[in-house]
Amino acid sequence: MEHIIKTYKEDEMINITSIVRDTVKESNVSSGIVTVFVPHTTAGVTINESYDPDVVTDILSTLKKLVPENPHYLHLEGNSHAHMKASIIGSSCTIIIENGDLKLGTWQGVFFCEFDGPRRRTFYTKVIGEK
Ligand code: ZN
Repeated sequence: MEHIIKTYKEDEMINITSIVRDTVKESNVSSGIVTVFVPHTTAGVTINESYDPDVVTDILSTLKKLVPENPHYLHLEGNSHAHMKASIIGSSCTIIIENGDLKLGTWQGVFFCEFDGPRRRTFYTKVIGEK
């Protein structure tokens, strides 16, 4: 299933857990897996703490330190730092479905990670399993 989201900042992590959860519920799959896939080269998806918003802020600030903007990158578009952050984070996540719901830890959430926003973005979910 295709999902469209709008990002508002250059670097941003948007909690998409409720979208993924609703997709699983609508599929009526009770036991299986759901994959979340981001078809972009300067955005990604990850699972991390959704309870304390400072965690997301710390992840984004640490990625900024790890991958600074640098005028000497070869890629002429000027957004090599965003491509590198996207590769560090990765473009897909797989979550187990049990009893028709996501088998996430208490503090876990699924985050769409924007590194070259703001933009209109897409991600896909694919639910596989038994009803
Ligand atoms: Zn580029």
